[in-house]
Amino acid sequence: MAHKEILLHIRERFAKFLTENQHRKTPERFTILETIYSIDDHFDVDSIYKIIKKNGMHMSRATVYNTLELLLQAGLIRKHQFSDKAAFYEKSLYNNQHDHVIVLRPDGSIDRIIEFCDPRIDAIRKDLEQYLNLKIDAHDLYFYAKPQTDGSPKT
Ligand SMILES: [Zn+2]
Repeated sequence: MAHKEILLHIRERFAKFLTENQHRKTPERFTILETIYSIDDHFDVDSIYKIIKKNGMHMSRATVYNTLELLLQAGLIRKHQFSDKAAFYEKSLYNNQHDHVIVLRPDGSIDRIIEFCDPRIDAIRKDLEQYLNLKIDAHDLYFYAKPQTDGSPKT
């Protein structure tokens, strides 16, 4: 689907959610939504705030934060607590199912986040569903990593 169509669809979905839940449809809220769907990365409140500011829009951090909460409720973004520091978010639609390797620095801060998709994880889910007779709706899987210490970086 073209980016323009995606934006149209997510705007409609967010508008419907805001109306149904009696929230105002402010231009700021839609700007935040479109900004998120225009980047292919994980972000925290601060980084999305900086991108919006760089694009010439003025809004408070509180507006950004509150809008992220609404987008979470609307199912338009996903929240990750990769570390005990800031929460990260990413778009949840038009974004293939994947899991994460979080590479940490010695001080525990995040160096980078690597996404991967492995069908074996889906096979585990199916096995568990059958074995437990349950329907699994979602999962979070984070691998925490540090660089190899023998000095030969593997890719
Ligand atoms: Zn991701």
